[in-house]
Amino acid sequence: MNYHDITKDDMRNGPGLRVVLWVAGCAHHCPGCQNPVTWDPDDGLPFDDKAREELFEIMGRDYISGLTLSGGDPLYPGNRECITELCKQARTRFPDKTIWLYTGYTYDEVRDLEIMDYIDVLVDGRYEADLRDVKLHWVGSSNQRVIDLRLGKDIEINAREDIYTPVNNNLSCGCGD
Ligand code: SF4
Repeated sequence: MNYHDITKDDMRNGPGLRVVLWVAGCAHHCPGCQNPVTWDPDDGLPFDDKAREELFEIMGRDYISGLTLSGGDPLYPGNRECITELCKQARTRFPDKTIWLYTGYTYDEVRDLEIMDYIDVLVDGRYEADLRDVKLHWVGSSNQRVIDLRLGKDIEINAREDIYTPVNNNLSCGCGD
């Protein structure tokens, strides 16, 4: 798996201050995507041991609420093995911190993947420019959903605006706008 960036103290991709891994690779090619540079899975840098330790060093800081995985699409087929192992390790090392994952797939398309056992919140769905809504929390278009997997896999899913109070609505995630 390749990645483009690791950003720290991020306030726009989940609650609190977070470390965000921006991976390379996305097959959805949504019109209006803010990060088309991330579509090529062979672009960017290899996500190697040094990058993983940098990520974990930031995640371990007291003021960091958790890890967000975005891109690109962390669930691009070529990324799945690596991102699953990363989430498994992050869950073990930092059990009290949250893991959010943004994907262009719908929940139904990925709900049976092993990685669902290691993440707390899935933000799902392609970015649909016609459904762009800057008032929504954590998503770019109204078809996308913030799904709290801690409530169980068979919950009726919906946008969790009541739970996840945004810092602001100026979103810029890879799967949003
Ligand atoms: S908006 Fe997200 S899912 Fe759509 S092309 Fe961009 S990175 Fe991929």
